[in-house]
Amino acid sequence: MRKCNICKQYKPNFWYKTKKKKTCRTCERTWWNSLLRMLVKQRKLTPAERLGNRLGYMGTAFIMMSPYLLPYDNLGAYTYLIGALLSLPQVWLAKQWNLVVVNCNLLVGYGAYLFN
Ligand SMILES: [Zn+2]
Repeated sequence: MRKCNICKQYKPNFWYKTKKKKTCRTCERTWWNSLLRMLVKQRKLTPAERLGNRLGYMGTAFIMMSPYLLPYDNLGAYTYLIGALLSLPQVWLAKQWNLVVVNCNLLVGYGAYLFN
C-alpha cells in the first residue's frame, strides 16, 4: 500500500505504474492530462540532430572564449569564425532562423574584420 501524492489515498502497489511513481493511475489519467499528452508529439532526436547538438556546444564554447582572445593578435576573430561554423548546423536543423542569421552575421562580420 502506498499513498498517492495527488488524491492522498492509500492504494495497493499495482495501482501505480512503476515502483518509483508517487501518483496512482487514476490520478495520472485525468481527461486533462490525456488531452495534454495527445497534443505533445513524442519523438527521438535524429543522428544529425545529435551531432548538431554536440557541435553546437563546442561552437558555443569557442564563441564564449572569443572576446577574451581578441586582444592577442586577433586570435579571438578566428575562434569566432570557428564557433559560428560549428553552431550553424544545430540552429539550422532546429529551424531557429534568428540564430542562423546571428551566426551568418558573425561569419560575415569577423570574416570582413580579418581580411581588412
Ligand atoms: Zn491518486
